[in-house]
Amino acid sequence: MGFEDFHRRSLQDRDAFWTEQAALIDWQTPFTQVCDHSNPPFARWFVGGTTNLCHNAVDRHAATHPDRQALIWVSTEVGQEIVYTFAELQAEVERMSAILLSLGVQQGDRVLVYMPMIPEAAFAMLACARIGALHSVVFGGFASVSLASRIDDAQPTVVVSADAGSRGGKVVPYKGLLDEAIRLSSHKPAHVLMVNRGLSDMPMQAGRDVDYAGLRQAHLNAQVPCVWVESTHPSYTLYTSGTTGKPKGVQRDTGGYAVALAASMKHIFLGQPGETYFSTSDIGWVVGHSYIIYGPLIAGMATLMYEGLPTRPDAAVWWSLVERYRVTSMFSAPTAVRVLKKQDPAALSRHDLSSLRALFLAGEPLDEPTAKWIAEALGKPIIDNYWQTETGWPILSLCNGVESADSKFGSPGKAVYGYDVKLVDENTGQDLVGPDKKGVVVIEGPLPPGCMQTVWRDDERFIKTYWSSIPGRQVYSTFDWGIRDKDGYFFILGRTDDVINVAGHRLGTREIEESISSHPNVAEVAVVGVADQLKGQVAMAFAILKDVSRAADDASALKLEGEIMKVVEAL
Ligand code: AMP
Repeated sequence: MGFEDFHRRSLQDRDAFWTEQAALIDWQTPFTQVCDHSNPPFARWFVGGTTNLCHNAVDRHAATHPDRQALIWVSTEVGQEIVYTFAELQAEVERMSAILLSLGVQQGDRVLVYMPMIPEAAFAMLACARIGALHSVVFGGFASVSLASRIDDAQPTVVVSADAGSRGGKVVPYKGLLDEAIRLSSHKPAHVLMVNRGLSDMPMQAGRDVDYAGLRQAHLNAQVPCVWVESTHPSYTLYTSGTTGKPKGVQRDTGGYAVALAASMKHIFLGQPGETYFSTSDIGWVVGHSYIIYGPLIAGMATLMYEGLPTRPDAAVWWSLVERYRVTSMFSAPTAVRVLKKQDPAALSRHDLSSLRALFLAGEPLDEPTAKWIAEALGKPIIDNYWQTETGWPILSLCNGVESADSKFGSPGKAVYGYDVKLVDENTGQDLVGPDKKGVVVIEGPLPPGCMQTVWRDDERFIKTYWSSIPGRQVYSTFDWGIRDKDGYFFILGRTDDVINVAGHRLGTREIEESISSHPNVAEVAVVGVADQLKGQVAMAFAILKDVSRAADDASALKLEGEIMKVVEAL
């Protein structure tokens, strides 16, 4: 079926379309209603069905292909590689589940994950899904103030963390930042589960902090069955920046998310069971949730989880992994491609990349020179895809294995099945129907499966923020400007709000300002995004200091403490 017909059918024959996609996952109890949209803008998908994300990502594959590779962990930071089969992954997740249960985590509780890219982070996420708890992963680059606000909003029973991460061979301690965040927050988690990598000091607080290795040993043979939860049961929250200083907890369901990811692996990311998927993102971002952890595993693929820089030991490291693990689908961001191009444009040609079917890029606009260079150097389709933390999977892309010839430079493609994407005039709310007119990119409700259910504990904010900004109608706003050409290809022209995009990561200037203002020597601060050749944008802070004589010291302190610089430095 052609792209257009597929898309049309997904909207016009919605229930039949999604019933077919729902067969890609296992259900414990079949659903009785495909979509309940009786209380717009809220959409409840696969009502009455029960399922489990961890069962679909791990157990069902462990049952049929226990020895197939599931999680391939590569760290160029500590020089280690570990491959877990599906059976081994299930055993680790059961141990982690038993530990979380022993620490008092119950169904519906939150577990905050503040971790570097290590296998235990994946175990923790999957263990939460297994026992019906919600994980809330906070990117390891965020410092104490931001972490504290997320702890207060999520109110986790347990925080899972590690002594340290590592960047470019430099140890980045986590425990001190976490202790400070818990000191700042009003909510105090009952326990902190610490993974000790032996990289940094890890002072333990008696009664609160517990050591993962010891508990893992105690639960070595644990058997913890998956808890079957309602399709609409929330699986996680993930914070995203907006125009206020208060981050929004994007809440996702279980069944709709599993179906959306399974369908996207088939129709967009071209993944087959037994193959290998490599997404270069971090678990702290939505791409990490959908396409490092859940999507590939649900599809029965091995997922490659990478800790390290793309340029260390050299700019060929990712290509060497593609070659060694026969990666079939790779997912990255335009910034990373620009960095690799700058460092060593010939690196690709030194590796056998014949296993690769396509390279998927997202997170920020893909500029034409970068797209052209990588398309030529790789000789494979480069598939730009546009989406957001809120949607969890692509809104615009090319689907069903379309050839690169069908893509247009500078465009992430057309509306993906399930999404009724429109361009509207921001003043009148009217649809812009003709080609090449600039408007706000909006989506008509109901949002397809897998998209955010609501803002965590704040339905009002969900309606007010996302569904009330266009005059005279209730549509979901992406807060992006776009145009559509005569062939239906969209072009994204930037944000309508003051959210900035650094290296494919979305940052709210207000939140960064609040974090910097917490520094004792800062009287006032303003943060703006400025164009950057490599990273798209970088955050620039203008601060008025109370004591100017300490300016040099404080500039470096802010650089270490403030998440802007950490995130700016992160890819
Ligand atoms: P995030 O929620 O961090 O994934 O950021 C989502 C935002 O990143 C979108 O609203 C866009 O502004 C931008 N974005 C993501 N993917 C693309 C893309 N392929 N092309 C252009 N902008 C993108």
